[in-house]
Amino acid sequence: MLLETKIEFLKGVGPQRAELLQKELGIFTFAQLLHHYPFRYIDKSKIYTISSIDNDQTYIQLKGQLIAIGTVGEKRAKRLVATLKDETGEIELVWFKGIKWLQGSLKMGVEYIVYGKPSLFRHTYNITHPEMDLVSNALLTNDVALEAVYPTTEALSNKGLNAKGIHRIQKNLVAQLTHQIPETLSDEVLQQLGLISKEEALINIHIPKDENTLKKAIFRLKFEELFYLQLNLLRQKVIKTKTIKGFVFSAIGNYFNTFYNEKLPFELTDAQKKVIKEIRKDIGSGKHMNRLLQGDVGSGKTIVALMTMLIALDNNFQACLVAPTEILAQQHFENIRELLHGLPIEINLLTGSSKTKQRNEIHEKLENGTLQILIGTHAILEDKVKFKNLGLVIVDEQHRFGVEQRSKLWRKGNNGVPHVLVMTATPIPRTLAMTFYGDLDVSVIDELPKGRKPIKTIHQFDSGRMKLFGFMDQEIKKGRQIYVVYPLIQESEKMDYKDLMDGYESIARRFPLPNYQLSIVHGKMKSADKEYEMQRFIKGETHIMVATTVIEVGVNVPNASVMVIESAERFGLSQLHQLRGRVGRGAEQSYCILMTGNKLSAEGKLRMETMVSTNDGFEIAEVDLKLRGPGDIQGTQQSGLLNLKLADLAKDGQILQAARNTAVEILKEDANLELEKNVRLRNTFKLLLSGKINWSRIA
Ligand code: ADP
Ligand code: MG
Repeated sequence: MLLETKIEFLKGVGPQRAELLQKELGIFTFAQLLHHYPFRYIDKSKIYTISSIDNDQTYIQLKGQLIAIGTVGEKRAKRLVATLKDETGEIELVWFKGIKWLQGSLKMGVEYIVYGKPSLFRHTYNITHPEMDLVSNALLTNDVALEAVYPTTEALSNKGLNAKGIHRIQKNLVAQLTHQIPETLSDEVLQQLGLISKEEALINIHIPKDENTLKKAIFRLKFEELFYLQLNLLRQKVIKTKTIKGFVFSAIGNYFNTFYNEKLPFELTDAQKKVIKEIRKDIGSGKHMNRLLQGDVGSGKTIVALMTMLIALDNNFQACLVAPTEILAQQHFENIRELLHGLPIEINLLTGSSKTKQRNEIHEKLENGTLQILIGTHAILEDKVKFKNLGLVIVDEQHRFGVEQRSKLWRKGNNGVPHVLVMTATPIPRTLAMTFYGDLDVSVIDELPKGRKPIKTIHQFDSGRMKLFGFMDQEIKKGRQIYVVYPLIQESEKMDYKDLMDGYESIARRFPLPNYQLSIVHGKMKSADKEYEMQRFIKGETHIMVATTVIEVGVNVPNASVMVIESAERFGLSQLHQLRGRVGRGAEQSYCILMTGNKLSAEGKLRMETMVSTNDGFEIAEVDLKLRGPGDIQGTQQSGLLNLKLADLAKDGQILQAARNTAVEILKEDANLELEKNVRLRNTFKLLLSGKINWSRIA
């Protein structure tokens, strides 16, 4: 078959270049070259005049003569500078590499087509490393207006396969294609989405007929990548649903009802009600619940968790809640015990620092079933901890809790797999949620309890510290408490501790005893000391809590209304948002103050602006995704998403949604892809899973 042909047999390649293509780009066959996509296109139809250049954003094409060529600078700073002139003006062209070769080949007085991105340098524009083409050549070879530009390597460029060289061999390949590329989507899908055929898409991504067809080609190929990714994830979910039976919690009984009618201290928000309904639908149906509960900090996830636990209890099951830190487990324990006060429910706490005697008692009561709710840390995962009848596991803060640990909890049910509810306060964009948690169902609490005043966020440069201290004093006098948080990054740990200590001292000087009480908490303290300081702050005995990011997750002190974040430019957006969520939990107006150095990078500035302009965690997550790309976002590494060739999760949310919807519809009708009309899907899917083709690898 043509597509399986070895690359060396392509016109313009040969054995030497073939070896390099294999080594440098992993291209062995015609098919693999076809899936080596361009990363941009040159619009050959438009020629700009030099005087009309007025921004440095986009690639443009110029036409003119070289009126000067020469080198400037010495050694490493040496560069080749040429002046291009057209009828409207002059512009400098600069090269740092390949100087010798260029100097030998560029000709004065001849017309060139120059392609590149102008940038402003000392008030005039220049273009570094432009592509140069003789007008005579350009006219000869240009049969299309949009010319593909390919990624390549230095070794390949040296053998004539630079961006242009690759374009040349792609042309040779595409010229041979006449209905050899098998279709990989079903006719039904093609029709429903108005997609062009695979062959047409591949031809046009390399040699676009026009802009519109190119768009269609890119859409079709992106869709396909995302479609098979979703198909895979959704299939796994279908299989799980079929093989794992869930306990049926059919009764809503005394525990739930008494709590709801007599103990619930506030009215649930509509979002909380909606989520509880979603959960009840899972656990009441014989389906195994594997659900992610997303909700911004302070949105009230705990009460949802508690009410779900009560349903488990009503059905004679035990429930447990696992938190990422001792402080949090402790807080959950106390909070929940208080909420349940007066109800005949046995509840206990198990952490790394539980005493042996207490441990033994817990173990015993778990096994005989008298202990109904266990709250704790990872200590719950130990093999010694066995339940009589565990029906529900709640995990708080997903991102510190791996898949493996989740599955450990599964095995704690001795006569079935307990339902799992994972709670996270790290909002992730919907596109990512659809994909990372493809195997989980997702519920979202997208509404904060009523009466909360939105937190006011202010960005302040370090030079305004006196003002900050004044403001802190004013809030303390009103009876409020304040967090001051310092970054702690492993690589610069020593410096960071020094910053923290220096900061603490200057605060202590400005806010001296006995009128002011300070707490300090950081990772180098013993856990008992940390606990002691936290408790002092929680009880309102101290005014200011100076801390590293150990307080990031979950701590709830409603009277704390000011969050000061030092060196805020060193934090990522999601972390800033998490920290801010520590305040704004009481009835008072809360503030978040972002302290930064006077000089900020463009990205740092955007992060501060985003924080100041919105409190919406999802909006922040979208910006974060755009800034960092999916590669840096938690969980992507294992998800296979980074193997996407064309699709970009930061930008292609709509295509992803369409792909997912399509996959859902297909699996609903034909879970095993057995229908005749889905035969292409079945075959392609099989090939993808077996790794036989990798144009969009699936993890
Ligand atoms: P998170 O989602 O960050 O875990 P919590 O469950 O800790 O949030 O809830 C934050 C605070 O909001 C708690 O003090 C809780 O009692 C309160 N809360 C939760 N739901 C409501 C509600 N519907 N109305 C008023 N306050 C609520
Ligand atoms: Mg919480």
